[in-house]
Amino acid sequence: MSTTLDAKTLWKAVLAELQLVVSPINYKTWLENTKAEKLTKSSLEIICPTLYTKDRLQKLLPLIQEAVDRIGTGMYEITFVIGETQPKKVSTEMGPLFAQTQANSATKEIQTKAGLSPRYTFENFVTGKNNQLAVAIANAVSQNPGTVYNPVFFYSGVGLGKTHLMQAIGNEIFRKKPASKIIYITSEDFTNELVYAIQHGRNFSAAFREKFRKADVLLIDDIQFIAGKESTQEEFFHTFNALYMTQKQIVVTSDRPPKDFTNIEERITSRFGSGIISDIQPPDYDTRVAILRNKRDQNKDAIPNDILAFIAEKVSTNIRELEGAYLQVLTEGKSNGDGFTLESAAKALHESIREDKQKQVNVQQILKAVCNYYSVKSADLKGERRTKGLVLPRQVAMYLIKDLTGTPLMTIGELLGGRDHTTIIHGVRKIGGEVVEMGKTRQDVTNIRQIINAT
Ligand code: ADP
Ligand code: MG
Repeated sequence: MSTTLDAKTLWKAVLAELQLVVSPINYKTWLENTKAEKLTKSSLEIICPTLYTKDRLQKLLPLIQEAVDRIGTGMYEITFVIGETQPKKVSTEMGPLFAQTQANSATKEIQTKAGLSPRYTFENFVTGKNNQLAVAIANAVSQNPGTVYNPVFFYSGVGLGKTHLMQAIGNEIFRKKPASKIIYITSEDFTNELVYAIQHGRNFSAAFREKFRKADVLLIDDIQFIAGKESTQEEFFHTFNALYMTQKQIVVTSDRPPKDFTNIEERITSRFGSGIISDIQPPDYDTRVAILRNKRDQNKDAIPNDILAFIAEKVSTNIRELEGAYLQVLTEGKSNGDGFTLESAAKALHESIREDKQKQVNVQQILKAVCNYYSVKSADLKGERRTKGLVLPRQVAMYLIKDLTGTPLMTIGELLGGRDHTTIIHGVRKIGGEVVEMGKTRQDVTNIRQIINAT
């Protein structure tokens, strides 16, 4: 850790990073009004304005912890306390969330305000057997919003194009009729905005209603997250009705069909069923190749067809993974001297597959591997005894759990029999120091990593 790093500087850098990974609304609502003043070698205290914010931040802890550890290059126990954070002055009566768009602002700005990304268009959405019906519906709806199919409900597994297709509808309607009020929002952000509005009193609640009920096109992504949230469902139901009765277009996506919802009110799911429902399936091999070629041509990359075919063969789960694999191959091909060869592609994919595997490692797997490797019992690892034969495995477990899963120190302490987080810091540091030496500990850790990777 750099000794000159102070709490404010660290937190500022962390906030900048978080701004890239959480949605703008989440950032504004939960993170912007926080500050940090106390930083020690092993702890960082974050001040937040309300108990509610504190709860929310607690949920974001894994993300925050990761960024703090990385930027601070140390390990800090993060705590949240409620205190004065000098909230920014709200400049308009409606507040920052509802700031009015300038009448003559640039197209891009309007699009962004609507939550639309210009990169999601019909033009670069490849049609195959897997998504034919969904694309036909999306096309029809963007030609005649509110009249042909309403509501539209798309569902599929992750990374198969729901968001892209939904956004393409918004972008197309916007292209034809720039004055349309289009709103794209995830159901999580819908919930967050609602909570914010309720907390901030009548003006905000009214503005919230006004905003959603006056939309011409409402695109709600990943509706499954309203499950179990009663007030969100209530509000959504009324929004839905207001729009539906005035023939405004509603498009909804989800990870499952309406009939499979458990914690969403019947009156809502039955409304979804009243329009048209379409699924999107995983793409077959030919469609995968077409998607890759389309991507290559769009970006004017130099990857040859046979390499694209190779990627399409190796990655069949979903399109997000396919795009990830494409990028790996691109990077590898550009950085090695020989350009795009099957070998460099294989190397790139092999690595990405291994990394994927590492990410999925869980604490139990690590504990099991450590116990087996050192022939100790899990109960002893978590117990009080401090014999040499137990201390090393225990510390190796702390180190590997931190390294492979990023679990917060306090949680690791709990997992290992209720140990204090300072004990965990000590263990992680000690092993972290030993693995850079050419000794037994390094060999042990390497071996255990291999065992975990092989499971
Ligand atoms: P979902 O919302 O279903 O999880 P996304 O819409 O985010 O999936 O799609 C994941 C990625 O795959 C995005 O980058 C998207 O542009 C791309 N993608 C999905 N389907 C297609 C398709 N048919 N043609 C081209 N790109 C696609
Ligand atoms: Mg999506």
